[in-house]
Amino acid sequence: MPQSQQSAPSVWKPSRFNAITEVDDGGLVVFNSYSGAIASFSKEEREQVRGTLSGLTMASDPQGLVQHLIEHGFLVQEHTDELQRATDLHQSMNVTDTMHLVLLSTEACSFRCNYCYETFPRGRMENRVITGLKHYVQQKAATLQHLHISWHGGEPLLAWDVIAELSTSFMEAAEAGDMQYSADIATNGYYLTVEKMQQLLGWNVNRFMITVDGPAEVHDQRRSLAGGGGTYERIMSNLIALQATHLSFDIHIRINFDNSTLQAVEAFIPELARQFAGDERFKVYPRPVGCMGGENDLQLPVCDDRTKDERIWSYNEQVVNEGLQISSFVSEILVPGGAVCYAAKPNSLIVGSDGKLYKCSVAIEEEYNQLGYLDEEGQAHIDLDKMLLWTTSGEEKDENCQACFFRPACQGNHCPLYRMRTGNRPCSYEKRQIKKTLRTIWLQEEAVTAAFMK
Ligand code: SF4
Ligand code: SF4
Repeated sequence: MPQSQQSAPSVWKPSRFNAITEVDDGGLVVFNSYSGAIASFSKEEREQVRGTLSGLTMASDPQGLVQHLIEHGFLVQEHTDELQRATDLHQSMNVTDTMHLVLLSTEACSFRCNYCYETFPRGRMENRVITGLKHYVQQKAATLQHLHISWHGGEPLLAWDVIAELSTSFMEAAEAGDMQYSADIATNGYYLTVEKMQQLLGWNVNRFMITVDGPAEVHDQRRSLAGGGGTYERIMSNLIALQATHLSFDIHIRINFDNSTLQAVEAFIPELARQFAGDERFKVYPRPVGCMGGENDLQLPVCDDRTKDERIWSYNEQVVNEGLQISSFVSEILVPGGAVCYAAKPNSLIVGSDGKLYKCSVAIEEEYNQLGYLDEEGQAHIDLDKMLLWTTSGEEKDENCQACFFRPACQGNHCPLYRMRTGNRPCSYEKRQIKKTLRTIWLQEEAVTAAFMK
């Protein structure tokens, strides 16, 4: 082709939302928080990738590795306004065709965990609230594409009849309105028999968060029954019974650690592996205990930031090395909007057992978190100024967040309550240690591939 007819080369620049880390085999893992892409490159490709992602690239007909980097969003056109893209992404949170409701089927709990922040002033969801919720969802179903319910408490399974009645009603509304319906639950696991699991799966509750804080003696000392007595044996026997089935579910075993349990958790991971290694329905999620406003806060031996950042990733690495799965929450937080707390989302509400509406599940007793109420006819009465307090307190007012490589995932809104209480940016553990996060995901991928090749 004559020179004059050749297309002018495009100029590509590295995205401002990239993060890169070198991994154990000498290769690279590259992540982009706007596209959500995570890609691995071999040791041989490393220098070319590093070079390309550190300066301007001219290419009239991009091929091979450059094309790959463009497709994943690691390179963007020179004129691309990435800050505007991030702003547009944030505004897409205002879409009105999806809704997330966190429902407190009961605010009572049969456990008394020593780090709990709840005060249990209310019990089972009142009948007028159940009626209001049915009407609310029936009215919304005509315009919603997707409804997601999170069952919380207290201990939600204590109000089994509430979950049964509402799930049935929501599923009927979903079918009538051609709306997708999904659900998850945070439960202590004490009542989660095989029979209950079968029923919950029938109500589209597929994801379960269950906390086991270490070996029996450690767990029981921290998570006892309200009237006294251990809970470990029963929770574990429920999990073991579930494992023996062919049911398809997603259980995330959360391990809350503090300074007093660091060694116990290290010893507990191999114990979990002896039971659950190789079963991808069980995932492990180590997290540090925090002071969330509970009456024991001053006595809690919480870890300092450095210990938290080290231990989360050393435990995760141990989880992978023992043949267990790390929780998918680690990678899900990296996708666009994935690190945004539901409290910051305009189309998300918590409905208390007395019909009160909240944004944050921790600051239940705080007046600024009590947005209004749901009436029996299904009308939500909301103080919009309080709503805005939660939905506009992120990157809009924070220049550091606006310039952050993790902005599309977090939008400055990983935990609005933390920002309100401390005035500090609520960066997630995954962002703070992005290199360790990417390495952990890479380790897990390698382990899965190796198991598959066996
Ligand atoms: S605002 Fe913070 S404390 Fe409240 S629900 Fe969200 S992450 Fe949890
Ligand atoms: S809170 Fe932290 S991670 Fe989130 S956008 Fe701001 S600086 Fe980035």
